[in-house]
Amino acid sequence: MAVQSPAPGTTDPGPAPANPDAPSAFGPAVALSCRECGARVPLGPVFACEECFGPLEVAYDFGDEGPEALRARIEAGPQNIWRYAPLLPVPADVTDKPNLNPGFTKLVKADRLAAELGVTGGLYVKDDSGNPTHSFKDRVVAIAVEAARTFGLTTLSCSSTGNLAGAVGAAAVRAGFRSCVFIPADLEAGKVVMAAVYGGELVGIEGTYDDVNRFCSELIGDPIGENWGFTNVNLRPYYGEGSKTLAFEICEQLGWRLPDNIVIPIASGSQLTKIDKGLQELIRLGLVADKPYRIYGAQAEGCSPVSAAFKAGHDVVRPVRPDTIAKSLAIGNPADGPYVLDIARRTGGAVEDVDDEQIVAAIKQLARTEGIFTETAGGVTIGVLRKLIESGQLDPAAETVAINTGDGLKTLDAVAPSTGMTAVIRPTLDSFREAGLA
Ligand SMILES: *Cc1c(COP(=O)(O)O)cnc(C)c1O
Ligand SMILES: [Zn+2]
Repeated sequence: MAVQSPAPGTTDPGPAPANPDAPSAFGPAVALSCRECGARVPLGPVFACEECFGPLEVAYDFGDEGPEALRARIEAGPQNIWRYAPLLPVPADVTDKPNLNPGFTKLVKADRLAAELGVTGGLYVKDDSGNPTHSFKDRVVAIAVEAARTFGLTTLSCSSTGNLAGAVGAAAVRAGFRSCVFIPADLEAGKVVMAAVYGGELVGIEGTYDDVNRFCSELIGDPIGENWGFTNVNLRPYYGEGSKTLAFEICEQLGWRLPDNIVIPIASGSQLTKIDKGLQELIRLGLVADKPYRIYGAQAEGCSPVSAAFKAGHDVVRPVRPDTIAKSLAIGNPADGPYVLDIARRTGGAVEDVDDEQIVAAIKQLARTEGIFTETAGGVTIGVLRKLIESGQLDPAAETVAINTGDGLKTLDAVAPSTGMTAVIRPTLDSFREAGLA
């Protein structure tokens, strides 16, 4: 099936692609709907509204099963994201298909970190470094892969800040696709190796992530891109739904209830936006009791367009050129930035940023207090959590969940200069004593 997307300035983009397999291939999903104008189109490999160019998202008919039956069905499901298949755009037999089965990562009660930060209402770290390729991206890719299968696409691709490239490479191998992924050429060695090792094509592009993304949009519009599924571009509506599983897991792991606060790192803003969508669905379906919750966004100071807009009271996000060690979050023109602002304001949350030094300090604080080694994105999240508490923007007496989206082993350079051996000694007790360690 040809990949279709409306070109800017086109008045008649033609009909949306028909999807002969719908609805069962997409489970409860019934259409794509425009976030801006509400226009509906059939489920297809499209991502922008033909009426207003707004982003498309998946719309559902969840039926009227009732919360008790639905909860029981979920709890009887596998220990991965497919337990939530009844709430995702995937076929009911998704578990029979070859994929990486990500999700159901640990929700760690972080009492020692809470004590250091002065949180008294309970603090949890949702540790998504435990996914198959060690970042939250396995969740979103898994849903995009199912869509690519249904649409008959043959090459999996993405524009990536690092983690997505590895997640696509691994998922493609498992599911039997060719993969060809694109990254900024200056990424961390750990990210490059993780993306290359699965054997697909890995292309470094001279430029920022935003340049990579522009290139990918061009490729989609070209005959070269026919039958290509870009997980975060033409499959973006499906990809985004994967982040809802973070909301589902957090609430289920808390005993089917909402936390008071969730702190979420922002790259394009997709994850934050879809976690909120997931929480809203849980409330609407009666799976959790409705109560207020606050969503907080975290950025690095060297790439903080959403935080800057939040603080200035703006509705639009002005693009920036990133300069930060948090490369996985270095998107200067975040597609979902305006929706992040809406959600932070509507829920009474905030968007904050921390500098590189604070990122490193937060990585080490989380490792030292909870035994969790996060990548720079997690340093941003924990650093921002600290700053939100210190500035009075987040109530320490409320229950808070912070999301660790990636593994510190992929960004060793961030902490290597400030860590190391306590001493180097000869293999004798005397030498140990001389080093002052006895
Ligand atoms: C991609 C990514 C995010 C968030 O990305 P969004 O584009 O905002 O969904 C957060 N942390 C890490 C480590 C990532 O790789
Ligand atoms: Zn529209």
